[in-house]
Amino acid sequence: KLTQKETEEAIRRSKALTQDDMEALRIVSRQEYLKKREQKKLEEIRDDIEDEQYLFENVKLTEAEMQDLRYKKQIYDLVKKQTEEADDINEYRMPDAYDHEGGVNQEKRFSVAVERYRDLNAAEKMNPFAEQEAWEDHQIGKATMKFGSKDKKHDDYEFVFENQIEFIQDEVMKGDNYDGEPYGDSPDESVAKSAFEKLQADRKTLPVYPYREKLLEAVNEHQVLVIVGETGSGKTTQIPQYLHEAGYTKRGKIGCTQPRRVAAMSVSARVSQEMGVKLGHEVGYSIRFEDCTSEKTVIKYMTDGMLLREFLGEPDLSSYSVVMVDEAHERTLSTDILFGLVKDIARFRPDLKLLISSATLDAEKFSDYFDSAPIFIVPGRRFPVEINYTKAPEADYLDAAIVTALQIHVTQPPGDGDILVFLTGQEEIETAEEILKHRTRGLGTKIAELIICPIYANLPTELQAKIFERTPEGARKVVLATNIAETSLTIDGIKYVIDPGFVKMKSYSPRTGMESLLITPISKASANQRAGRSGRTGPGKCFRLYTSHNYYNDLEDNTVPEIQRTNLANVVLSLKSLGIHDLVNFDFMDPPPEASLLKALELLFALSALNKKGELTKVGRKMAEFPLDPMLSKMIVASDKYKCSDEIISIAAMLSIGSSIFYRPKDKQVHADNARMNFHMGNVGDHIALLKVYSSWKETNFSTQWCYENYIQVRSMKRARDIRDQLEGLLERVEIEMMSNPGDLEAIRKAITSGYFPHCSRLQKNGSYRTVKHPQTVHIHPSSGLAQVLPRWVVYHELVLTTKEYMRQVSELKPEWLIEIAPHFYQLKD
Ligand code: ADP
Ligand code: MG
Repeated sequence: KLTQKETEEAIRRSKALTQDDMEALRIVSRQEYLKKREQKKLEEIRDDIEDEQYLFENVKLTEAEMQDLRYKKQIYDLVKKQTEEADDINEYRMPDAYDHEGGVNQEKRFSVAVERYRDLNAAEKMNPFAEQEAWEDHQIGKATMKFGSKDKKHDDYEFVFENQIEFIQDEVMKGDNYDGEPYGDSPDESVAKSAFEKLQADRKTLPVYPYREKLLEAVNEHQVLVIVGETGSGKTTQIPQYLHEAGYTKRGKIGCTQPRRVAAMSVSARVSQEMGVKLGHEVGYSIRFEDCTSEKTVIKYMTDGMLLREFLGEPDLSSYSVVMVDEAHERTLSTDILFGLVKDIARFRPDLKLLISSATLDAEKFSDYFDSAPIFIVPGRRFPVEINYTKAPEADYLDAAIVTALQIHVTQPPGDGDILVFLTGQEEIETAEEILKHRTRGLGTKIAELIICPIYANLPTELQAKIFERTPEGARKVVLATNIAETSLTIDGIKYVIDPGFVKMKSYSPRTGMESLLITPISKASANQRAGRSGRTGPGKCFRLYTSHNYYNDLEDNTVPEIQRTNLANVVLSLKSLGIHDLVNFDFMDPPPEASLLKALELLFALSALNKKGELTKVGRKMAEFPLDPMLSKMIVASDKYKCSDEIISIAAMLSIGSSIFYRPKDKQVHADNARMNFHMGNVGDHIALLKVYSSWKETNFSTQWCYENYIQVRSMKRARDIRDQLEGLLERVEIEMMSNPGDLEAIRKAITSGYFPHCSRLQKNGSYRTVKHPQTVHIHPSSGLAQVLPRWVVYHELVLTTKEYMRQVSELKPEWLIEIAPHFYQLKD
């Protein structure tokens, strides 16, 4: 037994140790951390830590426990040492402007770098986890910046050159088949041409053009063809046109699927221009909740999810003569399911042509899957790309990206090329845009004009075209893009790529059935695609905001196909309504984990969409009509019973817009917050607040002015209205009467609970929540109206993982509803 004093000392020390332990467990490397999480171990680790903390606080430690802690400490020290060694590489300082001026020689450059290194906060150097901490701080900072409290980061952004980033040049990615000459006919600039003629000339310069005839021959000869070509070679925009020109549209449409809606929209816009027709006529697009096609449409770009839905109405796709599954390498869930379905119909529709196109050379797999379909390679055209890594991991990748962009802009002559920055989502892009504007504002004419072009899924259509506009002379464009610019969209004129190495990805635990959005490291394949974007029009440079050690040791080779890391409930419901019952033997290219399939079946059963035999029920059939997640469609179907379908489809529409509804201008944050809280009267939750926003807007006859006054994004609202209109149409189709019951908030919340009862959690003593079905610690997102209220029971729309696992869109719940609504799912404990 230890004496009282020894115990206290032990507890004190072990507490400090636990802190370290926690860090060590959380992020030996970020990759490691995420992997652990992926393997569902995090929960156990968390529990461990909680338990340990409990022990430290309440129990005297035994010698064995002390030993265990000492052992952990040793491991921790080892990891720390290794991390420090890994960073100990020669350094090089970006940018190479120094060379142009000839002023700074290698030696001096080195000493400058060493100086900078000394300046680094000593604590930061000591702590290998500073990176993660700062990252988390940043995330928290972002959350508070957006959703209240003080904007503490603001001052840091006052100066462009407050800090600079050091890069080490590593390998050079070789160019592909580049012989210095442009392919095809080079457009003759000396002859004045109309815009249309110019477009036609441009088409002929694309790498795919010289292969037009050969390609048409191959399509003619083979039913299924795998096409591979570097991003930007013209696969998406040209091949459907070639097929149209060759007459394939005489007996049916050409459908071309895209994993992303922005790509479908933007590419169809381009093709309609190239063909000199109005968008929506001969060339159109179809994305969820938006159909821009007509009777005339012969080339149809659509999201892969939309083609999947078309199978429901037209199981043999008889109106199509060609289906091109584009961006196959992305391996989205819908694309993977499409593979199985199109392969199947191709068997009994010999007239259907099937093209599978991909940006990566990993095409064998597609060929194998499609019974050894021939592979058609469009030789690429890429200039060499110089790869640079940061000397040390960047604590705040967003800030590092901004600093790097400015560094390039200021030191490189304008007009030598544009910058492409990969960020993870709309919020981040908007923050970056704001900061860039802020930092360049003060510089006036001292620097060349910097044109900032954001691009992300929810960017309004009118703004999408901006990224393709030619950069005016003397200016530089910086494109802030999500993963969409990795292969889906090609922006000409990019010379610099800045790659922080992250992407927002869905992750799913089949054990708990929980899905959350997670900012996660990209794969090596992605990193190389990103780098390649800088070498399209000339030699490029890529700046990776991570170390080469990170690249070689932490990044996975390839991105895991979505089917293996997502909730399958939606897909299972679609397949079931297509009459495909034997899911285990469905022809998957890579089968999903069995646990995910089971979980999906379980959920659909819980939602009463399937019966005990796994057959589709009447409820399930209705649910399948809605292009929504099963829980959301169940909520709508259940609204019939609670006589509030009118209110529920408004809520469903608001939940579906996916982009932020409220905004907070920097100078009017208090007003904005007050306006937002007005919708939260009564504190029953975010769903009801969303309903109030929608119905108040409707009362003003959809006034734009009202939106301004209430700090609400009018665009988001218009989109919600469109979605709502469509949901209203679908209600009719599944014979649910439109009924309004605005006064009965309880009925509305019960309808919500009917869909979302699996997403239920209970308040803990420490203010966090615990999910009920598969206990896990979660928190109310700071943006929620209930973040300060903390009701005992809540139902939530989704989980988002940033620094913590957050529940987003939360409503209060009475536990007895669970027993009433889902007695098969929840029972009373005796
Ligand atoms: P791939 O599918 O092989 O990656 P694309 O057909 O998408 O290639 O692109 C071919 C060319 O068309 C690229 O140079 C690209 O910049 C251009 N392009 C594509 N979409 C647009 C658009 N919306 N506006 C302007 N140019 C575009
Ligand atoms: Mg493409």
